[in-house]
Amino acid sequence: MAKIGTNCVQGGYRPNNGEPRQIPIIQSTTFRYESSAAMGKLFDLEAAGYFYSRLQNPTADTVAAKIAVLEGGTAAMLTSSGQAANFFAVFNLCSAGDHVVASSAIYGGTYNLFAVTMKRMGIDFTFVHPTASEDELRAAFRPNTKALFGESIANPALDVLDFEKFAKVAHENGVPLIVDNTFPTPVNCRPFEWGVDIVTHSTTKYMDGHGTQVGGAVVDSGNFDWFAHKDKYPGLTTPDESYHGIVYAEKFGQGGAFITKCVAQLMRDFGSSPAPMNAFLLNLGLESLHLRMKRHCENGQKVAEFLEANDKVAWVQYPGLKSNKYYEIAKKYMPNGTCGVVSFGVKGGRDAAEKFMSGLKLAQIATHVADARTCVLHPANSTHRQLSDEELVKCGVGPDLIRLSCGIEDADDLIADIDQALARV
Ligand code: PLP
Repeated sequence: MAKIGTNCVQGGYRPNNGEPRQIPIIQSTTFRYESSAAMGKLFDLEAAGYFYSRLQNPTADTVAAKIAVLEGGTAAMLTSSGQAANFFAVFNLCSAGDHVVASSAIYGGTYNLFAVTMKRMGIDFTFVHPTASEDELRAAFRPNTKALFGESIANPALDVLDFEKFAKVAHENGVPLIVDNTFPTPVNCRPFEWGVDIVTHSTTKYMDGHGTQVGGAVVDSGNFDWFAHKDKYPGLTTPDESYHGIVYAEKFGQGGAFITKCVAQLMRDFGSSPAPMNAFLLNLGLESLHLRMKRHCENGQKVAEFLEANDKVAWVQYPGLKSNKYYEIAKKYMPNGTCGVVSFGVKGGRDAAEKFMSGLKLAQIATHVADARTCVLHPANSTHRQLSDEELVKCGVGPDLIRLSCGIEDADDLIADIDQALARV
């Protein structure tokens, strides 16, 4: 099997004789068929093919196939955002009256999706700290729990998830473990090798890496046996009346059922499909992902070490630092590095954070992360602005937390920029 770098460049697409070397942008909403009967077969999921780009588009599917290869999964789909990917991954398993256990160390937007919007849809969530013991995790489960969810490296708190512990408790309870693998990407971390069942991504981040498109992906490992837990997942194991009684896990097997159902039902009804052009741009990013991640990690490590040694800095959170509480666990699951994001606090709290950030020249203030260009954000003043100081501490994002996303510039220049901005505080 080809290595990850080769798959970043060539995975998912191999042109036939005389076909374009670069993936074609199929900028078409619809697809022509010679007979209504032929099209009918597509609508019944009796034949594979494209009919309307709200559900599926060939450019998006080519890029999804590359991401499936990178993660080592059996099937994948692209979505129009990371938010849509996480919503689809969870909602594909749940209905009103169901319950999900999730790590409390997750991206604020995902937390809001779960705790506010999906709660309004009748799905209940229990949040557990990623360092919870197995017994604490077990205690969060209920008979109606349908999934366990976490982030491999949490944005912005940078907690690292113990996949084996989470997978063990999920499987004991007969539910899949879903992990958002946005920050390390499959270049640094392959959750399926540690028992994770479904992976999601905000492809807006490192996978794109150049700030050109908002997108997401859902990938299935094909390892979860839906029929072994038939009563929990009637959506996969009993007839779907909206597709003439198809049973997804029967017709598409363990490797294809989850993604086929997600496309056939959720894409059909919610239409969160990416534009073909966006899928094309994402693929350009993926072609250099293995090179960029190496540099992001080198820069993150150098910057974290510089910050840790600086008197003006109160604390640093970076899993690559030996002093970090997740150092060992990160080495186990991500031996080649984690990501380029470093979270830290400047002595003097919230005010010092603002002073420091306005002194930066090279690093730009932006609501973005995981980009080729270094960017910086003060969550307490932006993404988490609605939370009180007490609430901020509770979700692991203290009022002084600065999230610095190290790009792929020269580390010496990044450090010089940080040094001069710290000198102004
Ligand atoms: N998951 C993680 C880890 C994220 O950092 C983000 C966004 O920052 C999302 C999901 C949501 O992705 P998007 O902004 O592409 O909707």
